[in-house]
Amino acid sequence: MKCITCGTNLISEEKFTRFKCPACGKSEIIRCKSCRVRKIPYKCEKCEFRGP
Ligand SMILES: [Zn+2]
Ligand SMILES: [Zn+2]
Repeated sequence: MKCITCGTNLISEEKFTRFKCPACGKSEIIRCKSCRVRKIPYKCEKCEFRGP
């Protein structure tokens, strides 16, 4: 598993958040804690939705 924003390999469940794309619900967004804290925007691979 990799962070969608920075590409870091994620091993521990505690260090990332995981949710379905709020726009299309098809893609799973995985973000590490540091990207979430820094509010780096992500982009859905399927529908190109961008979110904080
Ligand atoms: Zn990240
Ligand atoms: Zn999407």
